[in-house]
Amino acid sequence: ERNNRSEEQVSGAKVIAEALRTQDVKYMFGVVGIPVIEIAVAAQELGIKYIGMRNEQAACYAASAIGYLTGRPGACLVVSGPGLIHALGGMANANMNCWPLIVIGGSSEQSQETMGAFQEFPQAVRSSIYGRPGTCYVDIPADFVNRQVNANSIKYVECCMPPPVSMAETSAVRMAASVIRNAKQPLLIIGKGAAYARAEASLRKLVEQCKLPFLPTPMGKGVVPDNHPNCVSAARSRALQFADVIVLFGARLNWILHFGLPPRYQADVKFIQVDICAEELGNNVRPAVTLLGDINAVTKQELASKRSLPMNYYTVFYHVQEQLPRDCVLVSEGANTMDIGRTVLQNYLPRHRLDAGTFGTMGVGLGFAIAAAIVAKDRNPGQRVICVEGDSAFGFSGMEVETICRHNLPIILLVVNNNGIYQGVDTGTWKEMLNFGETATVAPPVCLLPNSHYEQVMTAFGGKGYFVQTPEELQKSLRQSLADTTKPSLINIMIEPQATRKAQDFHWLTRSHM
Ligand code: ADP
Ligand code: MG
Repeated sequence: ERNNRSEEQVSGAKVIAEALRTQDVKYMFGVVGIPVIEIAVAAQELGIKYIGMRNEQAACYAASAIGYLTGRPGACLVVSGPGLIHALGGMANANMNCWPLIVIGGSSEQSQETMGAFQEFPQAVRSSIYGRPGTCYVDIPADFVNRQVNANSIKYVECCMPPPVSMAETSAVRMAASVIRNAKQPLLIIGKGAAYARAEASLRKLVEQCKLPFLPTPMGKGVVPDNHPNCVSAARSRALQFADVIVLFGARLNWILHFGLPPRYQADVKFIQVDICAEELGNNVRPAVTLLGDINAVTKQELASKRSLPMNYYTVFYHVQEQLPRDCVLVSEGANTMDIGRTVLQNYLPRHRLDAGTFGTMGVGLGFAIAAAIVAKDRNPGQRVICVEGDSAFGFSGMEVETICRHNLPIILLVVNNNGIYQGVDTGTWKEMLNFGETATVAPPVCLLPNSHYEQVMTAFGGKGYFVQTPEELQKSLRQSLADTTKPSLINIMIEPQATRKAQDFHWLTRSHM
């Protein structure tokens, strides 16, 4: 009577409905009865779509599918006792599927003191969608539904934010990229976690840019379309059985994937797991790499790392070949450097290539280059000598750089540096090895000191030195070296320490079965 709007009364049912609407819950499924009818009515009044079902189990299945489809939980409204028990099937199913769901159950009246505050609503919504999505149950005492409370005394907590997006550790991202790159028969498995994460665009890019075959799980189907040429569903058993590296994007190694165990898989297959749930990592198998984070974010991380990743031999030689003068003398020594270089770097003239030769000798390169440069000076002024060295090979006669500088021979030395003989390791792995073993005597004998700045051997004697890690840096330094006809230069080209082979195509999967 004191005409005060602040005295306006509102029922518990309306408070519940308003709290749901504030949390952006748009759909409610259920079977009404005492004491929850008023909640359904109040929800409808606020524009929440209420779909009455015939059994709580179906209602709960429906509400959980809303969570999967929209990323925001659907609500399932049930009465106490049998209603809630019927809903259990849907709650368990949502939880096993990792789908968000809010179940609201009416229960018998409680004394005022033990009533939970409605603060629990946003918490329920939040915990249903944050981390691994799943079911939340909110118990509503019957006497709350019809109690009138002062509208002004209620404070609705703001709509909870979308789940924070977490990314994987960068060292793990790098390691995963390296394992995938060195795989002979890699396979991506795309699960319903990837579908829920809305990772379709980034995963498709990964599949296409890295030319990787993929296999969807039943509900992972369609994240990348089934008719995509890289989809190997038609050869599912074979794909699983012969893959040497498998990347799981939101798929668990449960019965659907035969637990990740032989004979359906190679005994030594390397699994890379991408999942938002830490507890899932290492389940059933010992993964080679674990990427804890949101699938979409982690996939983008992998794509980004691909661009800035160490170059491999083919990238390096491709860019070198582009700028090589046709009449240059090519000197080459090393293992992979010489072998792969020979297949990419072209010769157009006789007697313009000198390499490790019949005896496979390492250490001949700088001597050969010096001889070629002296002959060029006398007979062919302006002709360039380009010496393509592995980092180990360079070490056999590196001090001849002083000779080159003393005679001012404009030789271009390219040191293709993979931190070792045949293969090395990256700085991180090297440090880890030393932490375990304390001295480098325990490191694999093929390893050389990672990240060695061989270009400083050249600058020590007054020549030009370049340390390059990207194709752009390589192009630029090579252009400058070729332009400068007065000075020798050394370009230290860092490449992927484990790089050896060509990017694999996957005819092993598609050809034989299609
Ligand atoms: P499938 O049945 O397709 O194999 P699963 O249900 O077994 O898929 O696995 C789904 C996985 O996806 C779960 O382990 C879950 O933790 C994970 N997941 C759900 N959402 C995300 C997300 N946004 N980012 C990463 N992982 C997620
Ligand atoms: Mg699974």
